Amino acid sequence: MSGCEHKVSGSKEKVWLPYYYEGRERGLKPHPYCIECGLIKNLSSERPHSVGFFMNIVAEMAKRYKITQIQTRLIALEMEKQALDDQFGLDRQQQENQFVEIATRILNVPARVVSELL
Ligand SMILES: [Zn+2]
Repeated sequence: MSGCEHKVSGSKEKVWLPYYYEGRERGLKPHPYCIECGLIKNLSSERPHSVGFFMNIVAEMAKRYKITQIQTRLIALEMEKQALDDQFGLDRQQQENQFVEIATRILNVPARVVSELL
């Protein structure tokens, strides 16, 4: 977790980066960024998920697979470590990709199983 509260740069200080809409690149757009940690704000149209959303998916998978409390806890810790709840910097697609990577690694289930629940 970055632990940064994120202070957005002023309107003059922006960086030009590709902008994504519905998963496709739509040219360049000025992105505001955090003057404290340098993280660039995601401008995706889709709202990022909360950590609770991903924990619900873990609970859903626990109905079909044997998932221990320790594994559930590891996933929660890993999401925290990778700052998956940092909605300032990650868009939904990036969050989902990270979650699939974490869940497949810790639970040893195929990526397809995780993706299907997203
Ligand atoms: Zn910040």
